[in-house]
Amino acid sequence: MRGERLISGCEHVSCGDKEKVWLPYVFRGRERGLRPHAYCVKCGLVKRFSGEKPRDTGYYLNVLGLLAGEQRVTKVQIRLIVQALERAGIDDSYGLDRYQQERLFIDAVVRYTGIPEESIRKYL
Ligand SMILES: [Zn+2]
Repeated sequence: MRGERLISGCEHVSCGDKEKVWLPYVFRGRERGLRPHAYCVKCGLVKRFSGEKPRDTGYYLNVLGLLAGEQRVTKVQIRLIVQALERAGIDDSYGLDRYQQERLFIDAVVRYTGIPEESIRKYL
């Protein structure tokens, strides 16, 4: 990873206040009633509406590095995980909150290494 933008490709542009849509507000994966959400007028992606700001992709790559150092993860597995995260658009901070990022990360690591979720969470 050399700092280039990952997937998504859309330079999201939010709709105006009047166009906002009422959707469930989600916090740590649970719905907490309805709130107005902005969405991107170009691609239609709904803007994240959660108290938890997403982290930089670099954060997850650091975690992966730490994990790999302690849990016997091969270079090939690391590459597969990074590719899976790129495909999932983990860098798209417009639409994702931290909870969703963590889910993507954990799912990818479990899928390619078999390390149990509890062991991965310790690094996050
Ligand atoms: Zn967009």
